[in-house]
Amino acid sequence: MLYPWQASAWQALQAQCERHHHALLITGEAGIGKLAFGRHLAATLLCEAAELAKPCGVCDACRWLAAGNHPDFRELTPTVEEEDTENDAKSKKKPSAWITIDQVRELNDFVHLSAHRGGLRVTLVQPAEAMNLAAANALLKTLEEPPSGAVFILISNHWRRLLPTIRSRCRQLALPLPEKAVALSWLQAQDLANAEAHLAEAGGAPLAAIERADATLLAARRAFLAELADPGQLDPLSLAERLDKQKVEVYRVTDWLSRWVYDLARLGLSGSVRYYPDETSRIVSLAKVLDPVRLMRYHDSVLAARKLAFHPLNARLVYEQLFFAYQQAIRPMPKG
Ligand SMILES: [Zn+2]
Repeated sequence: MLYPWQASAWQALQAQCERHHHALLITGEAGIGKLAFGRHLAATLLCEAAELAKPCGVCDACRWLAAGNHPDFRELTPTVEEEDTENDAKSKKKPSAWITIDQVRELNDFVHLSAHRGGLRVTLVQPAEAMNLAAANALLKTLEEPPSGAVFILISNHWRRLLPTIRSRCRQLALPLPEKAVALSWLQAQDLANAEAHLAEAGGAPLAAIERADATLLAARRAFLAELADPGQLDPLSLAERLDKQKVEVYRVTDWLSRWVYDLARLGLSGSVRYYPDETSRIVSLAKVLDPVRLMRYHDSVLAARKLAFHPLNARLVYEQLFFAYQQAIRPMPKG
């Protein structure tokens, strides 16, 4: 799959008729879709439908590739390893992500075999700067004397960190940042709210914008659920005001709320949660004393509010009503 902003770079690559250049280095900012571009190229090279400028998607090769088991394709990515800190008790153990020499050695075996399907053998390395020095040197040997039919696609956010000798063995393809209008219309098609602000914050890289927006939403959701989990401290008016100011969409907040309430009720009825397993401990401590029937009635009213959430309305007022009703709905069951 290509992103809309990659069409012209793709056409230019095709027009150069160098499809079989044995090593291509794809560079550019993080978050512009270099990996998707590299995978699209790999799929095109391996596709067995004749003379297409893009993968057909239906031949054996395309289906194997999509399923992750094409015998003539390898994707080299970092393995997470603990740093050796035995000699330095003070330093903390940090996971470090490298492509190791063992991975490259295995790869060399792969590229020197003949292709299972009689075509090319394609290797994608991403990100190429994750190769440690030993791994890079091992790959270099293969790039210097490439076996026939072996194609390498290297992806890099930081091509200056690569060995110059590796760079010089590759044809470099620098993918540009997308035009703002193209990136914006794509982001809007993904239902991203405040797309322009997120795109700006991400320096114009659309996939990075999505990631950042997700992180922001996740943080907002966690904070919101933490408030719901502590009903004694919950202040419906100030919570409503805060959510309104954060400009989280009403449909999201009602979604979070309905799922939270559903989990509370479900735990009481069936002993398990469905939507927020990472919040189980909070849900368990709250659910013990609740009335599941009353909760499900409240759940219905949240769903009704959610139906209205796509129409323009006063978000703050909706929140206030919902949160006051929440406090009523989660009163402990009368004893006895
Ligand atoms: Zn195909």
